Formats: sequence, C-alpha cells, structure tokens
Amino acid sequence: MSRLAREHDAVNLGQGFPDFPGPDFVKTAAVAAINADRNQYAISHGEPSLRQAIAASWGTAHDLPVDPATEVTVTSGATEAIFAALQAFAGSGDEVIAFEPFYDSYPAATVLAGAMFLPVRLHPPDWALTLEALEAAVTPQTRVILLNTPHNPTGKVFTRPELESFAELAMRRDLLVITDEVYDQITFGHATHLPLATLPGMWERTLTIGSTGKTFSMTGWKIGYAIGPGTLNSALRSVHQFVTFASATPFQVAMAEAMYVAQESGYYEQLRSEYDARRRLLTNGLRDAGLEPFPIGGSYFLTADVSRFGFDTDVEFCRWMVREIGVAAVPPSAFYLEPATAPVLARFCFAKSDQTLNEARERLARLASR
Ligand code: PMP
Repeated sequence: MSRLAREHDAVNLGQGFPDFPGPDFVKTAAVAAINADRNQYAISHGEPSLRQAIAASWGTAHDLPVDPATEVTVTSGATEAIFAALQAFAGSGDEVIAFEPFYDSYPAATVLAGAMFLPVRLHPPDWALTLEALEAAVTPQTRVILLNTPHNPTGKVFTRPELESFAELAMRRDLLVITDEVYDQITFGHATHLPLATLPGMWERTLTIGSTGKTFSMTGWKIGYAIGPGTLNSALRSVHQFVTFASATPFQVAMAEAMYVAQESGYYEQLRSEYDARRRLLTNGLRDAGLEPFPIGGSYFLTADVSRFGFDTDVEFCRWMVREIGVAAVPPSAFYLEPATAPVLARFCFAKSDQTLNEARERLARLASR
C-alpha cells in the first residue's frame, strides 16, 4: 500500500509509523552517545544502563521488582524478540495459538520455528475474548499462546476480566505466554493497559515484549526488549545471540537516558494526550466520510467497516481508495490466515501530523457521496 500511495501521490494512513519527528531529548542523547564513541558492540543481551532503565520503569509502574541482570533482554525491535522467543519456546510438533487478526510476524516466526500456527478469531465491534473458542483450540501439543494488547490492528485493550480468564486457562493448561505490549503507553479514555505478567501466578510463564520505537516515535531505531523470569530470558538470549547478537549501542544508550527523562518530565502523559487528539481528528474525518470506526482503547489505529462500498475484499477497496480518493489504508485481511474469510474492513493509522490528518480528512470526505 505504501508503494501504491507513492505512485498515486496519496496521503499514507497505511503503514504504522509516525510521520512526525521523535522528541529532541531522544535525538540529542543519540548524537551524544555517538560522539562519546559508544559505537562498538553492546553486551549481547543489552546495554546495562538500558536494562536498568527498563527494569526501573516496570518496577515503578507495576510495583514489581525486576532484575535487570537476568530478567530483561534488549532486542532489535519487538519483531526480533517475538522471533527469538518463538524459536526458543516452540519447535517441531508444538502448536502456537494467537488471536486473529494478528500482527503478521506471528505466523511467520512460528512456522520458521517449525511449529504449527493456530489462530482463534476475535470479532468486531468489540473483539471480545471468547474463552470457549480459546479453550477449544488448546490441545496437548499447545506450547505457547501469543497475546497482543493494546492490539494491532483492532485497537482493542484486553480488560482485566478477559486477562484473568486467559491467565486461568494458561495456568490450568500449563502454557507459556508471549505478550506483545508494544503500544502499552498509547491508551485512551477509560482503557487501562494491564500487563498479563502482573496477574497472580503469571510472571513465571510470561515473556512481555515492548518496543521503544512506538513510545518514542523512533521506529527506525529498532530498540525492543523482553521482560520475564530468568529462565525464559535465558532461553531467549541463547537465540538472540545468534540472530542479531546485539542491538545498536548508541541507540541503546540514548534510550536509557530517554526513559529516565520521560519518567520525570511527564512525557508519557503528553504522548497519550497528543495521540488522543489525533485519534479524535481521524475519527471525525472518518465520520464525515460516512465511516464509523470501531471504538478503540489503545494503539494508533482505527478500523472501519467498508463493506457498503460493494467490494468483495478489503484489498480491492483499499486499492480503489488509493486511486480514486487519494488516501492509503491497510487491508486487515493481511492479518488473517485465510484472507478471503476476513471481514471487509480498512485500517487507518493516526500516528500522523495534523497536516497529514487534515489532508486525509479533506480527501476522505469524497467517500461520503460514493
Ligand atoms: N508488534 C506489533 C503489534 C506491532 O504493531 C509492531 C509494529 N508495527 C511490532 C510488534 C514491531 O515492533 P518493532 O518495530 O519494535 O519491531
């Protein structure tokens, strides 16, 4: 869709990355780290100052001490953490379950680990967890369940009761859980992000994955991390060592500093309120266009039902919209194992400047008469 957007000079609300600059204090810290010659390999499992900052931030937020020496690993983005964790935890003969729609690296990483990928479908408008469907998917071969909250592409934030029933099942069936919480700082209204690992009995079996790319609008730096018990981190590290060995040193050093500055300066609250304003701007633009987005609790995506335009698939709709309306969105069928069975929706990213969102709003208005 990004290629098509360029070809048709369309406003790109497709790919999920901010089109505005990240904060100056983060950029300055990276320049300083480079000039201070912090340019050689980092320790494989992460620059100590960054592991310390991640552990401190988790400790403060959840009142749970985390040992930066053994319970935190820095990876090259959340994508690498997910990949390495699946290589570490699952193999031939194992089954991995994830909610569908799912972030597209999950099935790829599962299959590359030699395991079977089994999706359990969530349904609009609220994408609620149906425990019966999840329970029915678990077999003696199930090894790992992947959970993503706040969720891409739906914006769903799993509620405490949902997470509690999920946790009860994981404990009863003795499953490992990989939770992808890369949008943990981007939540709205009454939605509260609750890390699964903080529920009673879940720490031991959960690896929580985060990404500084989303929180600090630096997706190109690819600094991700995993938090969890020493046993799971040690398995993860044994794979990470031979996938990337280590992530870029100056960016790790900079992120460590950024996390402390963010904590002290109210950066996270500001991030949330800025994203909330962008969410409202795009919601209004979609409404003007006659599209009612599904309510979201977090992430920087809105999805809307576009079936009324009469296209058989979301891919056809999105291609048509780029050409005729000049706005690119992502067809969420890319997040389904069998795309032909996906509902006909479009995903719009609002990690964009006001200028981009206003331009998109003007163009989207043309949809109203279609
Ligand atoms: N998980 C989800 C749900 C995502 O949306 C993304 C980014 N689009 C990632 C993981 C990847 O994060 P990173 O860029 O840190 O690899």
